[in-house]
Amino acid sequence: MEIANVIIALFLGSIGSVALAGLMLLLGNEKLEKVSTYLMYLAGGILLGAAFLGMIPKAISMSDTRQVLQTIMFGILLFFILEKIILWRSCRNKNCERHINAAAPIILIGDAFHNAIDGVVIAASFLSSTELGIFVTLSVLLHEIPQELGDFGILIKSGFSRSKAFWYNALSGATAIIFGVAAFYTLESLKSLIPYALALSAASFLYIALADLIPEMHRKTSFKASLSQVMLITVGILIIYVSLQLKL
Ligand SMILES: [Zn+2]
Repeated sequence: MEIANVIIALFLGSIGSVALAGLMLLLGNEKLEKVSTYLMYLAGGILLGAAFLGMIPKAISMSDTRQVLQTIMFGILLFFILEKIILWRSCRNKNCERHINAAAPIILIGDAFHNAIDGVVIAASFLSSTELGIFVTLSVLLHEIPQELGDFGILIKSGFSRSKAFWYNALSGATAIIFGVAAFYTLESLKSLIPYALALSAASFLYIALADLIPEMHRKTSFKASLSQVMLITVGILIIYVSLQLKL
């Protein structure tokens, strides 16, 4: 696997998602809210599909099943603790503690940390297979766009201009590239670690889907919203399933 491809993927997953979120700001507020919400539903399915259909089977095929599952469980606990410490994930509820206390630096540092992990996830996936790397990059891109949009909102509200918000967001996204490249070289020389890196990556995806996106989805209770959630989660899973079957 060439490092150049991995760097392109890292760039897409991190700064690409900031750029796409920035472009989407040009949409009207109402449309923006809609598109971002649907992307979040789709991301829920894509993340579950990438973890259960892509990363976990791949990790098991390279290592011992029991150890892979234990690593995933450990990863979920680790991400729970990390979230406690830095409140790195989104909160779209304006009354939550993150919104009240969160100064812009906390948002940016939390995101830098989260993006660093996404970078490692992308590198580990590319090292196990190119197709898995591509799906994982897509999964990162999709869950990051709604996240970055939320961050833009908070930064602009705390007094950043649009362009300053963009550049700071892009800078915090750049940690993905640094950590991704470091992870690539580390894992390339220590190949036996790849299945565990994949297992931790799957834990990160499961955590984001189940502990972050799905609770957010439950805040909308109308029949129409619930139906589109179920449909888009299913579509997300099917996208990964079909593409892995076709070996795209
Ligand atoms: Zn992410």
